[in-house]
Amino acid sequence: MPGLLISQSCSDQVHLIVGSSALSLSRISRSLDCGASVVLIAPQPSTPLSNSTTWNAELQAKLSQFSKLTWLDREFDFQDLTTLGRTEVDKVVDIVFVTLPSSSPLRSKISERCKRLRIPVNVADSPTLSTFTLLSTHMDGPLQFGVTTSGTGCRLASRIRRELASTLPRDISKACEKVGKLKQIIEQEDAIDDAENAVYDEVGHNDDDAVQTHKFNELVIEEDSSIDKKRKQRMRWLSQIVEYYPLSQLSSISIDDLSSQYRHNTQFVINESNTNKNGVISLVGSGPGAPGLLTTAALSAITTADLVLADKLVPAGVLDLIPRHVETFIAKKFPGNAEAAQKELLEMGLTALRLGKNVVRLKQGDPYIFGRGAEEFIFFSKHGFKPVMIPGITSALSGPLLSAISPTHREVADQVLICTGTGRKGAAPVIPEFVESRTTIFLMALHRLRDVVGWLKDAGWRVDLPCAIVERASCPDQRVIRSTLEHIPEAFEVLGSRPPGILVVGNSCAVIESPSAGEKWCIEEGCSLF
Ligand code: SAH
Repeated sequence: MPGLLISQSCSDQVHLIVGSSALSLSRISRSLDCGASVVLIAPQPSTPLSNSTTWNAELQAKLSQFSKLTWLDREFDFQDLTTLGRTEVDKVVDIVFVTLPSSSPLRSKISERCKRLRIPVNVADSPTLSTFTLLSTHMDGPLQFGVTTSGTGCRLASRIRRELASTLPRDISKACEKVGKLKQIIEQEDAIDDAENAVYDEVGHNDDDAVQTHKFNELVIEEDSSIDKKRKQRMRWLSQIVEYYPLSQLSSISIDDLSSQYRHNTQFVINESNTNKNGVISLVGSGPGAPGLLTTAALSAITTADLVLADKLVPAGVLDLIPRHVETFIAKKFPGNAEAAQKELLEMGLTALRLGKNVVRLKQGDPYIFGRGAEEFIFFSKHGFKPVMIPGITSALSGPLLSAISPTHREVADQVLICTGTGRKGAAPVIPEFVESRTTIFLMALHRLRDVVGWLKDAGWRVDLPCAIVERASCPDQRVIRSTLEHIPEAFEVLGSRPPGILVVGNSCAVIESPSAGEKWCIEEGCSLF
């Protein structure tokens, strides 16, 4: 499979095209577009091809339009490979395209010779004779992208390329140009002595990946030299704009708008670095999983943070929204080390706060629903950092909603209880009494579902009570299993688990949807949000 490794500079190269098919005309255009000089070697089509007149006319039009195009009206000679190129590379041509008909014995011979001379060669419709394939490319000013389906179909690649291009705002190339200009302004304003600049260029300018590395699980405390900090802040600001402005706005924003925000922001940063201001901590709820269910307050918190300390349950879709340059630590909380991991996380937060950082503690769902949010509130407050609290949509209530269960429903359910299936240190929890008109939502219960259901039965809950398991609520792979208390453990054992999930029990579970008569359970896959 060809590797999509490089985009090559073709300007001033010499590309040789051998053959007089319609394909050679399109090869000519592509090479000229990339800035290469093109030599076409093809005798005038002698047989009166049905389309030879058009071919000639099109070629003549190109010849009069492009001075970099030469046509040699003759047969190919192997010497052409080493005599028509640039002087600085000893006249070896840079790339060869063979568009001769598949019956031509020259195809494999040219390919062989090119391979020996290490000239990249492409023979039409022959991956084995070619050393490279062509991409279906999109070019719009400075923006270019190429699609390959690795030889499985160039028509498909072209269709995919068109579809991708159609999703971009029309003036995306302007956005690229504007961002480039802004980078220049930052470079000019931040011009410092050569040595430092060299380092800066190495890490910050030439390679977009370098400036936006997403360093998971690695707390890196920045050097606090003010000039260094200022530069990092400026690059950070630019990265944020590029990362978070909707593309459509980015392309319509003026360079002046960007510059004034840039100055405003820089001013703010410099002032801040001159004070001994303490850090800020926010305890932020991330919602059940779908990025769309983050609140705008949560989104703003994670996009402006210096450090994000995330629960491991926070799904990738949400983590993807954290700018790459923001340090992100995902709690390594596993059964058995929860306390140690929690302590480690809190200590990290505290260290960063003392360095004046803006810390976000990102928690699944809502921070105060089985999230140890209050413990953390007390911890940070005691150390002098009172957290800003940002609520999240809890899985306890969004799970039922996304699975067609209304926890309250007139004449069916008039109260809702959220509780846990796991007591402290894994012991049995206090089992709530059975109330006919209540919907009970159990979190952290599925790994011991049979036990939980057993305890409920012991406490007098009816076995024919409708219930549902909602797993990965709001995620594309959400799954709902509807059943009764009697059959739900069996269903879950047969189907296997897809954590995290909740158990919802009560008459409300059968109001909108329920298994058909005679069915012990039914399953629904997917989430209406997707
Ligand atoms: N603070 C979180 C709950 C944390 S306790 C909230 O408000 O949602 C962890 C439990 O939450 C899991 O064991 C599971 O029962 C539930 N849970 C979290 N996310 C879930 C999701 N997307 N779908 C279903 N259950 C989820």
